[in-house]
Amino acid sequence: MTILPVIPISPDKPDAVITRRRPSMPPRHLADLDLDARKAAVAALGEPAFRAKQLSTHYFGRFVRDASAMTDLPAASRDRITADLLPTLLTPIREQDCDDGATRKTLWKLHDGALVESVLMGYSNRVTACVSSQAGCGMACPFCATGQQGLTRNLSVAEIVDQCVYLAGVAASGVVTGSPPRLSRVVFMGMGEPLANYPRVIEAVRRLTTPAPEGLGLSQRHITVSTVGLVPAMRRLIAEQLSVTLALSLHAPDDDLRDELVPVNQRWKVAEVLDAAFDYAAQTGRRVSIEYALIRDVNDQPWRADLLGRLLHGKLAHVNLIPLNPTPGSKWDASPKPVEREFVRRLLAAGVETTVRDTRGREIDGACGQLAAGELTQAGADGVAADAEVAQ
Ligand code: SF4
Repeated sequence: MTILPVIPISPDKPDAVITRRRPSMPPRHLADLDLDARKAAVAALGEPAFRAKQLSTHYFGRFVRDASAMTDLPAASRDRITADLLPTLLTPIREQDCDDGATRKTLWKLHDGALVESVLMGYSNRVTACVSSQAGCGMACPFCATGQQGLTRNLSVAEIVDQCVYLAGVAASGVVTGSPPRLSRVVFMGMGEPLANYPRVIEAVRRLTTPAPEGLGLSQRHITVSTVGLVPAMRRLIAEQLSVTLALSLHAPDDDLRDELVPVNQRWKVAEVLDAAFDYAAQTGRRVSIEYALIRDVNDQPWRADLLGRLLHGKLAHVNLIPLNPTPGSKWDASPKPVEREFVRRLLAAGVETTVRDTRGREIDGACGQLAAGELTQAGADGVAADAEVAQ
């Protein structure tokens, strides 16, 4: 596990380095607890148990977290209950939108200064939140901005859920252009490897899919959990008997290349990872999504399309090709469109359903980790400058 120093940012002065602290888990939050545990928590404050349901309805049902807006709670209790059960976990330090307002990206500062990102994407029939499960990532995929930061720490259950609740509130405000005002899908494809933070991600999925007021009330079928192929965790996921969609970030159909592009492949090879994915599909009846970032002259050759087609032929799987969003200064680039079209043609000819992911958020550093990477680079540069001034 790689631990990098965290460089906190002031919310008022996003580019100012204020201190360096060690990463630490956040305070307990309502979203960490099920309803029974919330009742116990309010009882410990000397409040009647039904306050837990009132508070949960504000948070999960109305996306309200401001004590002054909770007028059904006695004024004398509001501040105490919200301070105890709704501590601020995420502070937005940068929000950007693009795609004519249909895509909004948020960079959050966590309580210990770690940075994570979420993206809200509006479509004509749905609104999807792409959320982070870790600050940074320890999987070290060389083409990925997050992978180049290393892992800072796992997010708590509530830090994951709170991204969704916040974005559900944004969707409900109607600002996502041309979309229904309701968050309906969550994909765990932001920063981090979700299955490396397994217990918290699964608990977050349960919170997101439990009906309000205990949870956010989304359908399990509308949740996608991605992985680079941590096989023991994939097998554990099969045993959970959830009906979430599994997305496997494959990126190469042969071990020689995948060992390089997805270093965890050195531990669990393509055949073993695909076996686990197919078993998940067989157990759940849910088609597995095979994610494949097309990288120019690296993994986009016709023979690799044919090999991928043979591996997936007849399986309950679908290929989602992702035109690579290159990170600044990276040697990796997206495949040219004719190469992409030929790759698709060969997969379809092999009988494998294939789509090309739309490239939402490109103009706002839309690849996972790019916004945080830019912020850390800026903060790091400022930090060096600040250190130099002190030294003089
Ligand atoms: S691609 Fe995913 S698993 Fe790989 S380093 Fe990036 S965030 Fe981590």
